[in-house]
Amino acid sequence: MKSTLLSRRDLDFLLYEWLRVDELTKLERFADHSRETFDGVLDLSEQLASRYFAPHNKKSDANEPSFDGDKVTVIEDVKEALDAFAHADLIGMGMDQDLGGAQLPATVAQAAFAWFSAANISTTGYLMLTIANANLLAKFANPDQIDAFLRPMLAGRFTGTMALSETQAGSSLADITTRAEPQDDGSYRLFGSKMWISGAEHELTENIVNLVLAKIPGGPPGTKGISLLIVPKYLVNADGSVGERNDVVLAGLNHKMGQRGITNTVLNFGEGKFRPGGKPGAVGYLVGEPHRGITYMFHMMNEARMGVGMGAVSLGYTGYLKSLQYARERPQGRPVTAKDPSTPQIPIIEHPDVKRMLLAQKAYVEGGLALALYCAKLVDLGDSDDLLDILTPVAKSWPSQWCLEANNLAIQVHGGYGYTREYDVEQHYRDNRLNPIHEGTHGIQSLDLLGRKVTQRGGASMAALANAVEKTITSARATGGEPSELAAQLESAWQRLVGVTTAMFGSGDIEAAMANSVIYLETFGHIVVAWLWLEQVLAAHGHAGDFYDGKRQAARYFFRYELPKTAPQLDLLKSVDRTTLEMRDEWF
Ligand SMILES: Cc1cc2nc3c(=O)[nH]c(=O)nc-3n(C[C@H](O)[C@H](O)[C@H](O)COP(=O)(O)OP(=O)(O)OC[C@H]3O[C@@H](n4cnc5c(N)ncnc54)[C@H](O)[C@@H]3O)c2cc1C
Repeated sequence: MKSTLLSRRDLDFLLYEWLRVDELTKLERFADHSRETFDGVLDLSEQLASRYFAPHNKKSDANEPSFDGDKVTVIEDVKEALDAFAHADLIGMGMDQDLGGAQLPATVAQAAFAWFSAANISTTGYLMLTIANANLLAKFANPDQIDAFLRPMLAGRFTGTMALSETQAGSSLADITTRAEPQDDGSYRLFGSKMWISGAEHELTENIVNLVLAKIPGGPPGTKGISLLIVPKYLVNADGSVGERNDVVLAGLNHKMGQRGITNTVLNFGEGKFRPGGKPGAVGYLVGEPHRGITYMFHMMNEARMGVGMGAVSLGYTGYLKSLQYARERPQGRPVTAKDPSTPQIPIIEHPDVKRMLLAQKAYVEGGLALALYCAKLVDLGDSDDLLDILTPVAKSWPSQWCLEANNLAIQVHGGYGYTREYDVEQHYRDNRLNPIHEGTHGIQSLDLLGRKVTQRGGASMAALANAVEKTITSARATGGEPSELAAQLESAWQRLVGVTTAMFGSGDIEAAMANSVIYLETFGHIVVAWLWLEQVLAAHGHAGDFYDGKRQAARYFFRYELPKTAPQLDLLKSVDRTTLEMRDEWF
């Protein structure tokens, strides 16, 4: 039976027929690999995700972690799934071989991971955070820290978290107040509190490695004064065994709309419940240099942002496949031209409006998957920072918006049944609703895109994107036929975007331009995804069969129904409209 998590056929198309990831093995870093090892990891991931992750997805939603004031209880299936993932050596799949990793391309690792996110985004969340944490330590931690914390994470003995947010400081990390006081032995003692920390308290592993942003007293104000520290739940002894309890204390669990299977915590540091070494404060170890924490964390955040985008795609994708299956099986109504009630009912997939909803989902999720994998390949190539930089806010936000919309449509395809808990799609929607919020909200991504990425390094990132888009347009023109027609449409949208961007900055009214940054992000994202749909059309060109016809039809849908939505948005942006800026609090 075909999986309703993801489409392996589509993954193979994107990875091999379009991105040609097998050619990455020509790079020294991936020389030990081959298409066989890539396929092996993808096969294994599909199997493990189906066997250990999917079956408890609803169960963990219905039985969220509970806290009795002492310990947190999580359903046992979660541990079984995490252990299966660790035993398969997948935690280090993208990590360097000298650290014990498999050194797979990020493109393959992301595709493999997508199976787990589609199956169970909450249980996978523990792994995503652990992997991102381990990658950061691999880059910036010292050898002792690597031995004490990173290696046990790769072995599945410890999990990791990222502890940035505080109650009063979410989008604005400059305002965090957790402080880290230096000690004579080179360690630090932390005092303060963190809010929203995912995966930070449980009994699933021996220890939890919290990566915490804190301020060392006397440092510069704002983000320049933020340092990064390892603050484990338990201290680690010299022989690597788990030792004394650190003063990292769970103040309570947050109860969420979705992603309920992963703990989300309020953590207190140094409140005095435990006194490691007989002294107050939670013991922390500085990563790298003082006051450089935001720079280090950005390393993890960029990866995490792309990971969030891929998570959104995975949830959108599984919702799409489930609604497709439902639409094929649900008989209801008759064609508009056949009103005779004695004729048999048709499956709802025969209704054009249901096909519209399925096509929209297909266009969003396959477009989002293309975007996520394209960005992962840029990471692997390692020579396209300008392009990766400008695509990162898009890779985070576009799937968070449109693959969430896909989940919305998946519910609609199910009719009333979609609104019940009997079916999966309502949970996918709730789970996916987090993605435009965490790892930098939609609004924050738009400020990053318009306020930073578009103009950075003298416009180098925008130029790199222009170059890539124009290359596709040129080859589509040379191909002729429908690709050439789509190329003309893309070129006109792209040229307008460039012109409007120039006009916005040229207006001199930067405040008004920035007030419309979310509209800009949406338009920009739709044009980027149209470009990637044209890329897919080119990869499918000359191939016959249902799969390729489906690609072409979804591309047509995107160019006819979605891309034109950018025209009125571009008009609005060009006018550097001040409506939202001039709205007053007292007028609401
Ligand atoms: C389930 C869940 C899991 C999370 N996991 C983690 C985690 O593991 N680790 C961690 O550190 N954090 C985590 N977070 C925190 C998350 O990153 C923050 O919630 C997010 O960054 C937004 O911060 P906030 O909630 O304080 O909202 P606020 O920053 O108060 O934002 C509220 C609204 O105001 C807007 N806004 C704020 N500032 C601006 C601005 N300058 N310009 C325009 N609009 C603005 C926002 O876009 C948003 O719409 C998690 C959150 C949730 C809900």
